[in-house]
Amino acid sequence: MNIAGALASGDFSRICPIVSRTHESLGYGTTGTQIVNVGSVAFGADRPVVIAGPCSVESHAQTLELARAVKACGGDMLRGGAFKPRTSPHDFQGLGLEGLKILQEAGRETGLPVVTEVMDTRLVDQVGAYADMLQIGSRNMQNYPLLVEVGRYGKPVLLKRGMAASLCEWLGAAEYIAKEGNLQIVLCERGIKAYPSGEYSRFILDLNVIAAVKAETFLPVIVDPSHATGIASMVEPASRAAIESGCHGLLIEIASDRPGAARPKCDAAQAISPKTLERIIGFVGSRHAQAEEKTAYAM
Ligand code: PEP
Ligand code: MN
Repeated sequence: MNIAGALASGDFSRICPIVSRTHESLGYGTTGTQIVNVGSVAFGADRPVVIAGPCSVESHAQTLELARAVKACGGDMLRGGAFKPRTSPHDFQGLGLEGLKILQEAGRETGLPVVTEVMDTRLVDQVGAYADMLQIGSRNMQNYPLLVEVGRYGKPVLLKRGMAASLCEWLGAAEYIAKEGNLQIVLCERGIKAYPSGEYSRFILDLNVIAAVKAETFLPVIVDPSHATGIASMVEPASRAAIESGCHGLLIEIASDRPGAARPKCDAAQAISPKTLERIIGFVGSRHAQAEEKTAYAM
């Protein structure tokens, strides 16, 4: 596909021959999607996957409360940062190893597989020992040594789009992981910097890219409406729009709205309540059921 005339169609097959659809020996054709399994969760299957949890793991009580909420709402996976990429080095950086242990415990108690960010090549083994899926954050999408390390490590990878990355650069990043023999990659659109991002929302949610991703690669692609908008009231409509755009799942940040609960130390403005998450998951389920019904009638 020649996207908006910016690229010759041959560029994808040259830059990312493994993850592009030109890799015909994998047999995904022009529309097939590779399933990426994380425990019992299947990305790229018919039903979109919902990952939810706090921005960062802040305490045992906070994480367990939110993990139980994700489970009760019907979420599929738990998220939570133990190592946080913060703009200021003076801000909360995450609990590190202690955070990984808490997240793993919360995942085990609820039966939800966990995903968390790894930012440093020296920490891939440590994070990988506790996480079911390794997240590469937007700021590290082009950290090529880190991509190589998670590729070698072999656990499933959630590869966020760099906030200023073209589709070609994003798939080039996936190619670094795939070249090490790890094709268990899920792409995540999380908003890009473009005029007027920052004026009324944190980033610009690029839903157009979903169709383009699906045209160029067989890797599943999910959407993070939380970082993309940065505003809690925008998360639910953005989630619905993302599902309508054909993504394979959502990554959503939540916080407790229990009276007396502390506000999150990180990304408080975009955190939605468990109740809103439940509504979003209800929408995902109903759209999936409608799609199934349509297929059944067509048969
Ligand atoms: C996150 O998901 O915790 C995060 C920091 O997101 P991003 O890398 O997209 O900013
Ligand atoms: Mn966050």
